[in-house]
Amino acid sequence: MTLADLGRDLTPAASDVRFVRPKSSRKGGGKLAFPSGWAAAWPDGGSTPQGASVASTLMGAESTSATSDGARRINLRRPDVMEAVGAQVVAHYRSELVERIRARGGTICFGGMTIHLAKEFGFCYGVERAIDLAYAARKVFPEPKRIFLLGEIIHNPEVNDQIRNLGIVSVSPKPDDAELEALNLGSDDVVIIPAFGTEVGTRRRIEERGCVTVDTTCGDVMSVWKRVRGYSKDGVTSIIHGKAKHEETKATTSQATAYGTGHYLVVFNLEETDMVCRYIEQGGDRATFLERFKGAHSPGFDPDVHLVAVGVANQTTMLRGETEEVQRRIRAAMERRYGPALLGEHFRVFDTICGATQDRQDALGKLLRAPMDLLIVVGGYNSSNTSHLAEMGEKVLPTYFVKNAAKMASARKIRHWNQHISREVETPDWLPLDRPVTVGITAGASCPNNLIEETIRRLVQLRGLDVAALLSAL
Ligand code: SF4
Repeated sequence: MTLADLGRDLTPAASDVRFVRPKSSRKGGGKLAFPSGWAAAWPDGGSTPQGASVASTLMGAESTSATSDGARRINLRRPDVMEAVGAQVVAHYRSELVERIRARGGTICFGGMTIHLAKEFGFCYGVERAIDLAYAARKVFPEPKRIFLLGEIIHNPEVNDQIRNLGIVSVSPKPDDAELEALNLGSDDVVIIPAFGTEVGTRRRIEERGCVTVDTTCGDVMSVWKRVRGYSKDGVTSIIHGKAKHEETKATTSQATAYGTGHYLVVFNLEETDMVCRYIEQGGDRATFLERFKGAHSPGFDPDVHLVAVGVANQTTMLRGETEEVQRRIRAAMERRYGPALLGEHFRVFDTICGATQDRQDALGKLLRAPMDLLIVVGGYNSSNTSHLAEMGEKVLPTYFVKNAAKMASARKIRHWNQHISREVETPDWLPLDRPVTVGITAGASCPNNLIEETIRRLVQLRGLDVAALLSAL
């Protein structure tokens, strides 16, 4: 989707915004409205018409019907709101230069420099929806209404700065009761849940305070939750290929344990997968295993008990090839341990890599087949899908993962993120000036096009070329 399509509804069949009457104000101990299941997540069981939203009349917003838990509905995506939001978002993130290059097939040759843009890069549908909703929330609930955001709306510092500029205050991704108390968070406040979702307990604490919640969780993330809840319900341990500390994976693991006695184990890479496979096949030292996966398993997890029946899922933004290998190895271990006839009782799988991640990885794979001198990957350093793009690039050619064009200090110096040591490093003489050069550019799903434009402009400038001449040549 392009930014021009902002009015289009990208909502999954669920509400974006809801108001839940504070617990203390409910008569007869009314049902608490947090998602105890996919259908129960929404007052209408998921059948809300696309684009419908729920919010409080406290905001003076237009109200319609009341739901069983006391929530009242308004449409956050009213045409007047979306028109204003669309204009604002386009002004902040659109790039005409990028659009012109794309219209020419994604390649420009100018003054001895060739730039190839990956066919797919930048904002995905889930990110665009999250940003739309955050901007729409500010429109519908203007200042001085307090709007809080759990952590970051997406993993891009520039976008988060823009959200802050709207007067939306970022709090910790998982605020505890003390922090909520210090904020004096209550029914007059709005809380935005980011695109990668939040933990069940966090949502519950916020809703118990009666806040309006603007839920921007991506539908693809919710699909993983649904799968993991299904595993838990059937007594199957979720093995999640992901980063244990990433917000999305934390939210997903909370779904595994929130509604019963489910368990989970997070594996980050193939090395960890092989450890799990060895334990499945041969058993091992329980304490050593638990220590090795400290912080990546459910409370009470016992590998002797909870690795007997497993279901694999994954963080939506992992490398597809690696995820497939994780699935294959665990399946093979189960088959060797229990035999092909019983495999169905011990192993399940569901591919939860999202389409947008896949498209960006496929497009980069294709781009990397072209001869190039270097690749620039633009995006937030804590962005999972962006880091995987950088990982793909660095296997093939010099790759520089930068969060913005300012990191390209000169042709002699670039500061870029090294994800293997989790810090920025400096590389000298990274951009050849004495010969023709071919540069590839891609960006993660949370990177706006204006940052790609700045990157292109900076490259042109560093090569001693005239940006205005480039623009007029396109
Ligand atoms: S990367 Fe995928 S899961 Fe994440 S917000 Fe985008 S579409 Fe949704």
